[in-house]
Amino acid sequence: MQPKIKFIIDKDKDFQTFENFIKESKYDTSIIDWAFFKVYPDLKEYIKKGDGKNGQYYVADINFIRTFIDNEYAKNANLIGKNMQINEEAWKKKENTYFELVSELFEEKYWPKGKYIAYATIWGVYPRFLGDKTFQIPAITKNAEFTVIVIAHETLHFIFYEYFLKNYPEYNLNDNSFFIWNVSEAFNEVIQNHPKWLKEFGIGCAIYGGRESLVKKLQKKYYRSSMIDSKKLIDDIIIEIKSSKKISIKD
Ligand SMILES: [Zn+2]
Repeated sequence: MQPKIKFIIDKDKDFQTFENFIKESKYDTSIIDWAFFKVYPDLKEYIKKGDGKNGQYYVADINFIRTFIDNEYAKNANLIGKNMQINEEAWKKKENTYFELVSELFEEKYWPKGKYIAYATIWGVYPRFLGDKTFQIPAITKNAEFTVIVIAHETLHFIFYEYFLKNYPEYNLNDNSFFIWNVSEAFNEVIQNHPKWLKEFGIGCAIYGGRESLVKKLQKKYYRSSMIDSKKLIDDIIIEIKSSKKISIKD
C-alpha cells in the first residue's frame, strides 16, 4: 500500500542523530561540516577532531549538546511547528503526483511496511533509517519545495531497496550495502532529474559521489522516452558502477 507520511517533532531524534554523525565521522569527517558547522559554526568549540588516524570527532561535554538541542527547539518552537505544518501541506499537495510517478517504476506491492515518519531536524544533513522507514527533514532552514524533494528522495530509496533485494538476490544487503547504496543513489539521480519529474517538482536531486559521468550517460539514454523501465535502468547502473574507476564497490 502507498504509505502515508507522518510529520513528527522529536528533539530526542536529533540527539540520536547527533551521536550517529559523530560515530560516522570515523569514516567521513566532512559530515560534521555539513551537519553541524555550516549551520552552527559556534559548535566548533565543542566538537573537536580527535588525534586518532581517522580524525574522528568527539565531544567532551555531551550535556552541553543535549542542552544546546533543547534550547534550539525551545527558541524555535513556533517556527519549527509552523514549518512542519507547511511541509506537511506541501507534501499532501504533491503526494498523488509522486505516487503516480513511482507506480510507473515499481508495482505497488514493493512499498515496504514501515513507520514512514518524517522527523524534524535542526541539523544540516537529513539522514534516513532504512530499518523502520523513517527519515529527517529540515525544520528551520529550507523551504517546503526542497523538503518535498527530500521526502520523494528518501521514500524512493525505500521502495527501491525492497524491489532490489527481492529481484537481485545475488546481492545481499550485509555484504553489499555500499554497492547497493550507490546503485540506489544513481537510480534516484536519474529518476529525480528526469524532465517528467522536474516538471512536477521544480527541482531535481544533486548528483555526487563520483557518479556524475555515469548518471549523465544514462540520462542521455533514458531521457528520450517518458516511460522508464526500472529493471533495465538498474541493470545498466550495475554495469556502469562495476566498470567505474571513480566508485569503489567494496564496503
Ligand atoms: Zn539518497
